[in-house]
Amino acid sequence: MRAIIFDFFGTLSDPSAEADRLGTFAVTAAALGVPADRFSAVMAEHFPRRATGVYGGTRDTLLAMARACGVEPAPERLAAALRSHRAGAEIVRRPRPEALGVLDRLRGHGYVLGLLSDCSSELCEAWPETPYAPRIDAPVFSWREGRLKPDPRLYATVADRLGVPPGECWFVGDGGGREHDGARRAGMRPVLITNDAYPEVRHLRTNPDSYLPPDRLPDLTGLPALLGHA
Ligand SMILES: [Mg+2]
Repeated sequence: MRAIIFDFFGTLSDPSAEADRLGTFAVTAAALGVPADRFSAVMAEHFPRRATGVYGGTRDTLLAMARACGVEPAPERLAAALRSHRAGAEIVRRPRPEALGVLDRLRGHGYVLGLLSDCSSELCEAWPETPYAPRIDAPVFSWREGRLKPDPRLYATVADRLGVPPGECWFVGDGGGREHDGARRAGMRPVLITNDAYPEVRHLRTNPDSYLPPDRLPDLTGLPALLGHA
């Protein structure tokens, strides 16, 4: 096994940050001048299209979401909302406590590392500035690829960009988006991060995976040992 491919939200990012997402949406909604609950509902309803690039970048997406809420924001309101929204996205993408150290250890063991994330524009636009970027050899974003997990082309794309056959790739994720079934079908070896210490955010996982991989860990701390590096 030569490569490890990670899911992003709830796997590399702090699972508890998911609980902050609605609060960050409320700040964006206030900047746009739309009710917070309406904005959050529209953002959730439009997630599959936001995450496949249908609305373009974050500025254009916020404009589309405001219009879906029945509001035409003035340019200065939209600019303020964009600033707020990007600040909120930074909160939501913070690393889980052990994430960066584990990535460094795995790189030290010679693995190449990939990312496969169902994400909207915020993560993709900010990626080069994040602490993840220098540690991940091949980031693959649904927003850029125009498709969501478990589309087999996403798994093929990340393996190809890593230059490693799928059969030599681990896939590590917290089980949203039927990602483990997709990984298994792609020929990768899936690992479930159960996030047992974060039961309060389990209901926020979208499109949960019905396939449970035999390899399971409560968080990333035990991953090097699972891969044979005690
Ligand atoms: Mg996830």
